[in-house]
Amino acid sequence: MAIKVTVWNEYLHEIESPEIGAIYPKGIHGCIADFLTANGMETKTATLAEPEHGLTEEVLNNTDVLIWWGHMAHHMVDDEIVERVHKRVMDGMGLIVLHSGHASKIFHKICGTTSLDLKWRENGETEIVWVVNPTHPIVDGLDEKIIIPEEETYGEHFNIPAPDDLVFISWFEGGEVFRSGCCFNRGKGKIFYFKPGHESFPIYHMPEIQKVITNAVKWAAPVNMPQLTTGHVPTPLMPKK
Ligand code: ZN
Repeated sequence: MAIKVTVWNEYLHEIESPEIGAIYPKGIHGCIADFLTANGMETKTATLAEPEHGLTEEVLNNTDVLIWWGHMAHHMVDDEIVERVHKRVMDGMGLIVLHSGHASKIFHKICGTTSLDLKWRENGETEIVWVVNPTHPIVDGLDEKIIIPEEETYGEHFNIPAPDDLVFISWFEGGEVFRSGCCFNRGKGKIFYFKPGHESFPIYHMPEIQKVITNAVKWAAPVNMPQLTTGHVPTPLMPKK
């Protein structure tokens, strides 16, 4: 059965800037949804301006993996919707947080912190995304590195909790390095943070970047987990003879 993906985007830069709108005529969400659909996934999109930001109970209950792109309007995302998304992640929905989504309310909640600081600089430096875990399913079919000709620079220190798996580290022309592909397990949910994707460069049109996101969706999709028992268990599984 096809994996059901909802691509969420605040969708403001593409409307406000003609240059960014020209890179993503259907919005960043439209671009991502298109290549995921081409890869056999059942996709829908949701944006900030829609009622409940397009993330109703019904939409989330029918989503295996949610993708999140936000930048300038994190504060405009309703706390109630953040709670709703978080609950679904704890219950097994996958979550992929892209680029400046690191500063979103939902990623803060996942990381259990109020401050996710990092260094940044916007001058179109080259980024090399290095694979540091060649056994991970997210790197399936990739080269050992992805070269992005021009990107926004992010640099350590990135104030995240230690990831459960580190998949990529990026190097930037200006000298910084950054943990650019991080996996987290929370509750029954799998979360992947992936750094590339500044809005003024055509990053999500790059085939290698599309491959990473497609692989990440497959990895983050819920598995048929065993029923887990917790709490007081009065009856021993193996009764005493
Ligand atoms: Zn950016």
